[in-house]
Amino acid sequence: MGVMSTQDKGVAERLATPVQFLKGVGPDRAELLARLGVRTVRDLIFLFPRDYQDLTDVRLIRDLEPGRLVSVIGKVVDVDAKSLGWGRTMVVVLVHQGSDALRGVWFNQPFMRNKFALGQEVMFSGKAKRHDELWEMAHPRVAWLEEDESAGAGGVLPLYPLTEGLKQWHLRRLVRAALEAHGDLLEEVFPESFLESHALLPIGRALAEIHFPANKPRLEQARRRFIYQELFVLQLALALRHRIRQDRAGAPVLERTAKIDARIRRLFPFPLTAAQNAAIDEIARDLARSFPMNRLLQGDVGSGKTVVAVYAMLLAVAHGYQTVLMAPTEILARQHAATLERLLSASHVRRVLLTSALGTRRKETLEKIADGQIDLVVGTQAVVQDDVRFARLGLVVIDEQHKFSVVQRAALKRSALDPHYLVMTATPIPRTVTIANFGDLDVSTLRESPPGRQPVRTYLATPEQREKWWTFFRRKLTEGRQGYVVTPLVDDSDEIAAASLEATFEELANGPLEAFRLDLVHGRMEAAEKDRAMDAFRRGQTQVLVSTTVIEVGVDVPNATLMTIEGGERYGLAQLHQLRGRISRGTAAGFCCVFANPQTDEARQRLEAFVSTNDGFQLAEVDLALRGPGEFFGTRQHGMSPFRVADLLQDAAVLEEARADALQMVESDPGLSLPQHVRLRRMVLARYGKALDLGDVG
Ligand code: ADP
Ligand code: MG
Repeated sequence: MGVMSTQDKGVAERLATPVQFLKGVGPDRAELLARLGVRTVRDLIFLFPRDYQDLTDVRLIRDLEPGRLVSVIGKVVDVDAKSLGWGRTMVVVLVHQGSDALRGVWFNQPFMRNKFALGQEVMFSGKAKRHDELWEMAHPRVAWLEEDESAGAGGVLPLYPLTEGLKQWHLRRLVRAALEAHGDLLEEVFPESFLESHALLPIGRALAEIHFPANKPRLEQARRRFIYQELFVLQLALALRHRIRQDRAGAPVLERTAKIDARIRRLFPFPLTAAQNAAIDEIARDLARSFPMNRLLQGDVGSGKTVVAVYAMLLAVAHGYQTVLMAPTEILARQHAATLERLLSASHVRRVLLTSALGTRRKETLEKIADGQIDLVVGTQAVVQDDVRFARLGLVVIDEQHKFSVVQRAALKRSALDPHYLVMTATPIPRTVTIANFGDLDVSTLRESPPGRQPVRTYLATPEQREKWWTFFRRKLTEGRQGYVVTPLVDDSDEIAAASLEATFEELANGPLEAFRLDLVHGRMEAAEKDRAMDAFRRGQTQVLVSTTVIEVGVDVPNATLMTIEGGERYGLAQLHQLRGRISRGTAAGFCCVFANPQTDEARQRLEAFVSTNDGFQLAEVDLALRGPGEFFGTRQHGMSPFRVADLLQDAAVLEEARADALQMVESDPGLSLPQHVRLRRMVLARYGKALDLGDVG
């Protein structure tokens, strides 16, 4: 309302001019541009280069010094390919710069010959040396320059994404023309004083320098402005959402008293670790406030998150509120129920396991929950979300939150009053991803494991080493340990020839492990069957569990110390780490052997990282680096496009800065309603208003 001035409107219209009306763009070229997503003048101005060609280190041939990394521009005057015998070849490209000459040479790359044409302008970058009276560069990096580029040499030239039929120089000209004609129209979203105090380039200059930077430092300044803006706008959105939640009071105040604390602790068979106590303190502080807690509890596999969650749940129950624990799989829900059963057998807490296997007792159970006759519910998300009504729901705990889609979480939020939320994850999320995607989520981290844990030893094995592994495996079983064998597929109908579960089971039971008690479990089994298998394994009746990744998450059998992973190249890094987490739960050392046949570099790097460390946080960073933030947990699910310029790995420092600044701005102007913030607010709402449900702002 009244947010847009008439002046802004005129500008918006002019920026929305179709590119076709620009000089040099006809219908054909407009169509090519559309393929790059460029339809309007604004699109063109915001088509950021994907890379740059640095001409700032260009030297004259006569000024060359041996051994320095430099670039030289010249004209191709001769291209020659020679055979050196024994199948070896040499391509020589001679370039002239006036009367001076330089040659580039390539050994055993005969295809280089066809990349050059006489008369072409090229730039070679590399280290030059004198050879036969001539300057020479071996295997230089080559840039093929377009018409007018070398003329203004000395700058940093943009390299735009291209599509067939569209040339670099077309785009450069178009962008330059668009900037010259309309660049000064762009609205600045930041107040002037903000730009100054945060050392950000104003939009006009930032745009000019990101397209046609005078030099590298200027380019960095320009990029920084856009990276900052991108991250800041999201952090503002998240800060606003946080404020909206806080204003929406109505969560039960669950204070921790010394008496309650003592009563809960008595139930645990071990003293809590310092890390667990610190997390509990943070949670207790949240629960004592009248607005909902929204906290992520992250800790590596086996770090003891469950106990922390149980503490919080019992705190809610102590105040007469109900609590629910949701697990991502039925196996895990049952395991949590069993853990709670052990801990609470002597207590008055009324509890129920709500699964699809409940059958006819389901209706009765739901009535009890709705009546408030049940204090604590454990279930899978499928069971908990639809028709379950709580009388007084105080706390929701979600285990392994990345297995729940945001939509499912939202559904639960609507159905409930306004409970506190605790989400747990054993897939440690790099801090940058956490704050980028969940800026409004408070995070507690368990960095320390319960005492006495020994690191798992991990081996990457070749098929030839199989016999050796099984010999070792047998020895450990004989010593009384238990083990897992995990295969990636349920049956061999899948085209990819992976060891199928049944086949593996048969092979082992009639081969290397025939002297031992084996069982098998997979996702397609009946719940009761799965239960029986897990139970037997937990009690040590079966020694080896052959399984799919259904055991990936959370399964807790401390006596199991052996893990065999088949088809290791087929799992993600987080998944591998989860699997390994199954055997670091007691005080005996664990051994993990991965059989893999990696076909890609990424798979190889993943496996190497996996065997190199037991630190889940470090692995999460590697995962982020290998897969990129767009693929990584979070961004996709939120329906937010991955960032255009920001990179969560490289720009971590800017992210921290943007987050702090955003919090401060929302603190001082909670509705972003000050006149100098109006444009920022408009941008935040346009980008994230829907995705983050910011309807109440302003
Ligand atoms: P995760 O963080 O993977 O969910 P769990 O909560 O399942 O870890 O705990 C892993 C194992 O460590 C369980 O067997 C649990 O009983 C045990 N455990 C948890 N806390 C402690 C502690 N403070 N001292 C000793 N053992 C603990
Ligand atoms: Mg767990």
